[in-house]
Amino acid sequence: MSHAARQRQIASASPQCEVCGAALPVRRTGRPRRYCSDRCRQKGARVRAIVNVMVGIELLKAEFAVEAETDWSDESHRVA
Ligand SMILES: [Zn+2]
Repeated sequence: MSHAARQRQIASASPQCEVCGAALPVRRTGRPRRYCSDRCRQKGARVRAIVNVMVGIELLKAEFAVEAETDWSDESHRVA
């Protein structure tokens, strides 16, 4: 399955609680709900905080990797 097809499938899926997967009522106006209850919302916020830290570490690692791989003698890196 292509990446685009997968994106479409996710977008068209009925909304589910991000934490427990319970079906959420579809809202036609305003922001779609992400959690079925305050309990799941709080748990989701904690999970997201942990994920954010992990993503931050990955970004830092990627940044250092790019720095190490960059060949500054290359013409294309010179500021005109
Ligand atoms: Zn839930």
